[in-house]
Amino acid sequence: MKKKFIVANWKLNGNIETISNFLKCLKSKISLYLKYNTIVIAPSTIYLERVYRNIKDINIFIGAQDVDINQKGAFTGETSILMLQDIGVQYVIIGHSERRLFHNESNELVAKKFGLIKSLNLIPILCIGENEIEKKQNNTKKVIKNQLDIIFENFGEKAFINTIIAYEPIWAIGTGMAADPIYVQSIHKFIKNYINQYNTNNLENLIIQYGGSVNSKNAKGFLEQPDIDGLLIGSASLIYEEFLKILKISSDILYK
Ligand code: PEP
Repeated sequence: MKKKFIVANWKLNGNIETISNFLKCLKSKISLYLKYNTIVIAPSTIYLERVYRNIKDINIFIGAQDVDINQKGAFTGETSILMLQDIGVQYVIIGHSERRLFHNESNELVAKKFGLIKSLNLIPILCIGENEIEKKQNNTKKVIKNQLDIIFENFGEKAFINTIIAYEPIWAIGTGMAADPIYVQSIHKFIKNYINQYNTNNLENLIIQYGGSVNSKNAKGFLEQPDIDGLLIGSASLIYEEFLKILKISSDILYK
């Protein structure tokens, strides 16, 4: 059984009180779902260590929402991969569309971050996906190929071993308009085939998550698809009850 890979991306939300409450509630129920799910919580950088101290005993992991390309030095406001590693971070989200949009992050920059994370044996969660115009113009696969090719070019055929991919169509993120699970399944299959074609290694363990307006009402439709290996959840992951419902749905599917 391949566990579902569920990531809570809290973005720029939460404070000490809300985070403490969330973790207290989660800890009281989580043992039921850990058998079926690998769970990563990605809070804002400032709360990473607090979350880590709270969850390290219960086998939930922490993820950073981004990292700088520099490891140290005169880079005011940035966070180094060495610092993330130092406090116990295992996963780092990169290439999120909000970083690409609001911080002008290019595929080249994302690739640099990818290499840096892997060089320190942390695991990148690489976000890829098309925007609304690209979808309307039937360019989804072309966009995804470009986003993957730069990784292959820089890091070779083994790049995607021990890597998570999050397919996040930009038009579905934070809009309440989740993609159709059948559409997502077809894109995930395409991504797997594309990576397999270049990779001589066994990629059965490659994990591709879907992200974009997932909630407890639509999660089942995604998690039932054979090539949707998990979910990257934004706003619904801020509400403990919603997040727990999604973990239950995921567990029920695998339990069958
Ligand atoms: C995200 O942050 O990657 C995301 C998918 O957000 P939401 O679930 O709110 O659409």
